[in-house]
Amino acid sequence: MKAPMIIAGPCSAESEEQVMNCAKELAQTGRVNAFRAGIWKPRTRPGSYEGIGSEGLKWLKQVKQETGLRTATEVATEKHVYEALKYGVDIMWIGARTSGNPFSMQEIANALSGIDVTVLIKNPVNPDIELWYGAFERIQKVGIQNIGLIHRGFSSYEKLRYKNQPLWQLPIEMKRRLPDIPMICDPSHISGTREYLLEISQKALDLDYDGLMIEVHPTPDLALSDSNQQITPLEFVKLLEQLKFRDRNSTDKNFIHVLEELRAQVDNFDDNLIELLGHRMAVTKQIGRYKKDENITILQKNRWDEIICRAEQKASMANLSKEFIDIVFNAIHIESINNQNAIMNNSLLTNESKEFDRK
Ligand code: PEP
Ligand code: MN
Repeated sequence: MKAPMIIAGPCSAESEEQVMNCAKELAQTGRVNAFRAGIWKPRTRPGSYEGIGSEGLKWLKQVKQETGLRTATEVATEKHVYEALKYGVDIMWIGARTSGNPFSMQEIANALSGIDVTVLIKNPVNPDIELWYGAFERIQKVGIQNIGLIHRGFSSYEKLRYKNQPLWQLPIEMKRRLPDIPMICDPSHISGTREYLLEISQKALDLDYDGLMIEVHPTPDLALSDSNQQITPLEFVKLLEQLKFRDRNSTDKNFIHVLEELRAQVDNFDDNLIELLGHRMAVTKQIGRYKKDENITILQKNRWDEIICRAEQKASMANLSKEFIDIVFNAIHIESINNQNAIMNNSLLTNESKEFDRK
């Protein structure tokens, strides 16, 4: 089993004493690969603690000298990059408020050009995978060899369980596009409070993430930023002890055989599902042609209510959750509507696009 990379340390570097105490305790655990501390803090509102600035870089250098831990900090401008380089910072991460800004990303990428440093790119605050991917491309294009991604969740207007929504399907899609690029989870910024760190970290490990970045502070309640989500070094050790690190693969022949058999069953069901969906869509297209002849609206609310009610009832008998069946049926419904729309408004759409072409 390849042990996941663990990056830990305070949200912000606040004082030499806080940084050194924290780093020494973390180094003693023997479980930490790199020490993180924010030097320049991008705060939502002015007047909050905006970081100690370059002075704190001396403390990071000292951490490296005294503990041997690699050091990591956030960079958001070219000046940050140059300053961090002066003090031998090993890992520079790009924060969620920066990775979604192509100008900033390009500025940082240019400053990093030809430099041998590890760069970790956090997902942008908004759930836009292309922006995240674009940020990655800018860093890759200037020749950085060691690039990783950090999943820190996405902000949302609604106040939900977690401060930033994990939307796990987005990092999974990034991993599909970039299978060789490590994906690290930042449960601290997803959670926003201490209580969900374990469940988020475990989920990330179960999804085969390559590492975790966790905020640790000697006295979390007194922290100058993100105090609700930080934990003490002792709590950090307890958290790691509770996590189940699983193997990616097994060499047990019987296990492999059973797994292959079960996967063959799944593949078979998937084939059937796709074939059935094809048949279903063919029938809805036929309905579209009838509706067109009779000049009837595509969406008939009663019919949709009837379909979803029936599906939910059947789903509960088949031990499927209402949430799941709603997502599946909504997707099917939208596809049917799109198909019927294409049939019923065929001439209209072509005229419109001709109109558009002429402009
Ligand atoms: C941080 O890591 O302290 C930080 C500011 O993170 P993010 O960019 O994910 O908000
Ligand atoms: Mn933080």
